[in-house]
Parts: sequence; structure tokens; C-alpha cells
Amino acid sequence: MTMPHSHRVNDLTAWAAFIAELDAWRDAGRVAAFWWRDDDATDDTTALTRLLDIAGDTPLSLASIPRDATTALANVVAARPNISVIQHGYAHANHAPDDEKKAEFGPHRSLDAMQRDLTTGFKRLRRLFGPRFRPMFVPPWNRMADTLAPLLPRIGFQSFSTYGTTLQTRSPNIPTQINTHADIIDWRSGRKFLGDAAALDLTIQHLSFCRQRGLHYTNSSHGPTGLLTHHAAHDDACWTFIENLVRVITDHPAAIWKDPAA
Ligand SMILES: [Zn+2]
Repeated sequence: MTMPHSHRVNDLTAWAAFIAELDAWRDAGRVAAFWWRDDDATDDTTALTRLLDIAGDTPLSLASIPRDATTALANVVAARPNISVIQHGYAHANHAPDDEKKAEFGPHRSLDAMQRDLTTGFKRLRRLFGPRFRPMFVPPWNRMADTLAPLLPRIGFQSFSTYGTTLQTRSPNIPTQINTHADIIDWRSGRKFLGDAAALDLTIQHLSFCRQRGLHYTNSSHGPTGLLTHHAAHDDACWTFIENLVRVITDHPAAIWKDPAA
């Protein structure tokens, strides 16, 4: 196993811990599944090209903002079979008051108004991306009203995705929740890279949570482990980290990439 290059002892320790966690999956005769969600795609940009080049053949779900998605983005996606497109809100507009956390689909509007926006967005993405659009809903800022989940299947959604490890119980009325677990950007401190150690620690936490409980992406809604990126906001350190992570996961015999939106 080739370790990523780093001059920082802290980072090397974190990569060693990450590889040790994957080795523990191998020793248990199990395979750790990962998925990759990148948010806010609307157009064919330099940053998007960089993202797709790093991804290579790795399955990648682009959470695209329906109102702003362009034909140029659709053309890029059409040329890359490893990419799926999922729905990121409608306009990525905040409807929460100033003293509350931002939300486009929080409890601040009527369910009717939200259902209308989601339906318009769903149709637009299906028209632009055809079968490459997968019916997964990603609420902007990773939050939505609890009362919205049971309405999602009526619009056509089979799953939704927010952030963080949750103990979920499957309910026939609620679509499957497939979360992300490692957001590599530190939004509160200058919107820069979170750092190798912190980003890997988030990943290891979810992996060991699943490993110790015998949870697997095929037998529960706790897997796969989700990487969360935002290509338009990446600094160089973000790009380097993603390159390393993709390589380490792809090379490890007990790790695989999945596209749970597909
Ligand atoms: Zn977003």
C-alpha cells in the first residue's frame, strides 16, 4: 500500500489509521463501500473538469441545482458514464429567517410550495440528463422539514441524502436515507480544507461504526460511507486530499466505490 506523500507527521498518522481501518475490514472478510457526492454543480467549469479528471472511472454523484443546471453540464455528464446526477434542492435559495440555520426545504414554507418546486426541478433534471438523472434528493445545507420526507416518493424520489451518521429505522413511507459522512471543507473557519487528520477521522468514525455493528451497505441504510465535496469551493489542499483518497480506496482490496443513487 502506497502512502500519500505528506511532510506532516499528523497527516501520515491519519492515513496510516485510515489504511488500518480498511485492513480491519479485510481481516473480517468484509468489504467497505464508499460513495462520493459532490454538491452545487450547474455548469461546465474548470473546477468541474478538475473534479471529473480526478474521479476518472470512480462513480460520482453530482448534486445539481435544477434551476441553474445548463446544457453544457448535461453534455459533460453524457460523455462520462461514471457520473450520475441527483437533485440538489431547486434554486439553492434560503427561506429561513436570519436567526435560523439556512434551509431551502425547511419548515418555513408550505408543503405545497415545496412540492411544486421539487416537481419542477425533478422534471427539469430528467429532461436535461435523461436516464443519468437518478431520483435522489439532496436538500441544500443538508437539512429539510421532517414532514417533507413522506412526500418525496410522490414526486418520484426513491432516496434522499443529508449529512452525518444516524441510526435510521426503515419505514415504508420514508424513502431510503443515504448520507454523507466526511465533508472535507471547514465552512466555519475560512471555507478551507478541513485537514487530512480531521477529514480521515470522520471517515474512520463511520467505517468503524459500521464494522463494529456488522452493518453493511447491502443489509442496512448505514452504508456506504459518503465523501462530500464541493468542487467550486476547493483549495489546492482539498484537491490533493481527494486525489489521495480516491487512490487509496481504489487500490485497497477491501474497499470499493458504489453509486447508491444508481
Ligand atoms: Zn449546496
